[in-house]
Amino acid sequence: MDVHLDPSLAEEYSNKAQATRVVTEAWAEEEMYCPACPSSRLEPHRAGKKVEDFFCPRCDRRTQLKAKRGRLYNRVSNSAYEPKVEAIRGNRAPDYAFMEFDPEEWMVERLRVVPGHFLTESVVEKRNPLRSGARRAGWVGSNILLNRIPAAGQILLVRDREAVHAKEVRDQFRRTSFLREFGAEARGWLSDLVDVLEEIGLGPGDEFTLREVYGYEEELSKRHPDNNHVRAKVRQQLQVLRDRGLIEFLGDGHYRLR
Ligand SMILES: [Zn+2]
Repeated sequence: MDVHLDPSLAEEYSNKAQATRVVTEAWAEEEMYCPACPSSRLEPHRAGKKVEDFFCPRCDRRTQLKAKRGRLYNRVSNSAYEPKVEAIRGNRAPDYAFMEFDPEEWMVERLRVVPGHFLTESVVEKRNPLRSGARRAGWVGSNILLNRIPAAGQILLVRDREAVHAKEVRDQFRRTSFLREFGAEARGWLSDLVDVLEEIGLGPGDEFTLREVYGYEEELSKRHPDNNHVRAKVRQQLQVLRDRGLIEFLGDGHYRLR
């Protein structure tokens, strides 16, 4: 994977957003590979002249590319809210490739893929409707909240302008792909729980207690405002992680991360 973008493609565009789109899409067509299978490339899916998204010719997964000049922050504005939530509930959310590039030197600084199974309602925020004077008045967009997606669900393909080895990328992808077997609600809880375990700062082999996880009850309630039984949910999801061999039950509210 070559981290250099081709700025010559931008020359005919005075609009920066358009230039970004054309340059980064061309790069993805050349350099992106599938993190989920051995395919060495992704193909653009075009609607008219515009690239809608990319798909893997081998396993058919879809990837949305979101590229930004400079750094991405926690909130990334994204498409219409309702269709996105419907896609999440129907387990049809695509993978997202978040690219940050240096527009002076035209180099990819960082590229992260968030597998679609980490897209949950917890990480999508509803935006305010566009005001009445706007061209699409009343339209409701969404934000993706990157800070709510656990590191396990943000797979680095490029880190500090250096490509990560594809094997490492695919191993990381495989580690969490069991989430795909779960429905949207369970995926949401599992992903949030992984996020909490990361927040506690656990590494492989570390022990933790149920009490520590309960310490995040308020945060979890915020992410699941309709659920009044956060503690029961937490215990249930810990069992799922145990059944998947990701954690070990030591008894008496004590656990170990595998
Ligand atoms: Zn594939």
